[in-house]
Amino acid sequence: MNFDRFAYGLPDSQEKPAALVGKCEKCRAEIFLGDEVVVLEDELFCDTRCLMQRIGAEEKSAGMED
Ligand SMILES: [Zn+2]
Repeated sequence: MNFDRFAYGLPDSQEKPAALVGKCEKCRAEIFLGDEVVVLEDELFCDTRCLMQRIGAEEKSAGMED
């Protein structure tokens, strides 16, 4: 076997484009392999805020509604 092609010419792994895994179900932000995400069943969200908006929840200060 010839391993010459492994000795040179490979791009630095840091420069490889990350693998796209999916998109946030709420804001459509692209989600890449290794990103921290929130998962609800088979839906991906870029963060908890997007998940909350998707399910109709929101953060508020208790008792401060006008
Ligand atoms: Zn999002």
